[in-house]
Amino acid sequence: MDVVINNAWVLTLKNNRLGIIKEGAVGIEGDTITYVGSSKDLNYKQADILIDGTKHVVMPGMVNSHIHTSMQLLRGGAQDLPEIEWMNKGIGPLAKHLTKDDIILGSKLGVLEGIRTGTTTFSEYTKNVEELVEKVYLNYGARVVATETINEVAQKDRSKLKPTDLYELDVAKGDLALRRNEDIFTKFKKSDLVSCLYGPQALDMVSIDTLSEIKRRAIENNSRIHMHVAQGERERIQIEGRFGKGSSTVKILKEKDLLGDYLIAVHCHDTNETERELMVNENVKMIGCPSSISMIDGIIPPIFHYAQLGGDVGIGTDQAPGPGNHNLFREMRTISLLTKTMMKDPTVFPAWEMLQLVTSQGAKVLGLENKIGTLEVGKKADIITFNLNQLLLTPVVSQPFHNFIPNIVYSATGTEIDNVIINGDLIFHNGSFVKVDEQKLIDEANARGEDIYNNAKEDWISADSKMVKDVKKGLL
Ligand SMILES: [Zn+2]
Repeated sequence: MDVVINNAWVLTLKNNRLGIIKEGAVGIEGDTITYVGSSKDLNYKQADILIDGTKHVVMPGMVNSHIHTSMQLLRGGAQDLPEIEWMNKGIGPLAKHLTKDDIILGSKLGVLEGIRTGTTTFSEYTKNVEELVEKVYLNYGARVVATETINEVAQKDRSKLKPTDLYELDVAKGDLALRRNEDIFTKFKKSDLVSCLYGPQALDMVSIDTLSEIKRRAIENNSRIHMHVAQGERERIQIEGRFGKGSSTVKILKEKDLLGDYLIAVHCHDTNETERELMVNENVKMIGCPSSISMIDGIIPPIFHYAQLGGDVGIGTDQAPGPGNHNLFREMRTISLLTKTMMKDPTVFPAWEMLQLVTSQGAKVLGLENKIGTLEVGKKADIITFNLNQLLLTPVVSQPFHNFIPNIVYSATGTEIDNVIINGDLIFHNGSFVKVDEQKLIDEANARGEDIYNNAKEDWISADSKMVKDVKKGLL
């Protein structure tokens, strides 16, 4: 065997259970898991790399089901703002000053912080995703589900539009984007680390004709559509303007035969119970971004409601300005607490369900359940180790129950992760990146951050958001 981790608490996450193995071991050959079981029954002497799993949990690498890493250098740049200001007055004036290189550099930071905190699969959603896949994800050996954004809105600058002005749609623009989307399927066909999805940005940003064509291709390619669905007031106004009063995104998708098992719907906070039932019945998958949506919109995403109805749900972090980072440990804790509070019921969304959301469930939503998401012989070796031997997690008890399960979700910070293996490659070992100079990247990002904010200063001040007013008051 190439790599063996032994003497650990192994969580397999198989069959909707944690599948805890005491003094367990996991063996890897090439890119595949070849052993999961008791340490005693494994001859690991021949292993090239032996990782001592004593006082560690070994579990499947986590799946970030929806992430945009391109604005990473604007972390903290648009916080505590009214929702209506976030895009145009908050992040917009800063984003205008990001160069292509800043986007790559930011994405590198985003992916590294994800790996650092146990994420092995990233479902990246952006325009020109191909570049990020090559220069960032494959460069670092991360598994990526790539979605190319398809957006037909003709206006370059939407900040001049009133909310009730309808977007003009430009089908030629959509065509070009769809072609870019098709290209990634061909380009990464042979890559074991990359899989691709179709990315119409939202129902208000593409025409029904384009969306129907995308559906046809998604089914033909055995792929899925990854789309923002029912994101709130802006989208609802556009949908009612285009399709008539009382229309909603889900109603129109149903009417146009665009709800099916090929659809992965992100956010969904502007849906009602009937619409969610309809979506679950049509086998639509859902992704929620707890920190992002509560931070930017002041809304708890309906992840619990969807799961209650029997729907498949994954968790994502969205972009860094908003949630703050791409750490799925924080997301598990955040959605559990928000849901308990919303339902006034501390029993809902327990720790073991949170661990499923970021592993087996995330893999299922993205269509990767045969490849990753659990620790099973034959699956790809995406594996993380979590160090229980530290102050914030003490004591570790295993009788009459395993107290470290709730502690992983409610007490951990994510920095307890000390080994990350993706597709059989050891990317992060004993608390350090094997091939990446982390400090160099931090220094580079700090220097660029300083420049970007400096260049954006006038635009940012003249946008006059609440944040600007807070700065003038000396609060920030
Ligand atoms: Zn998004």
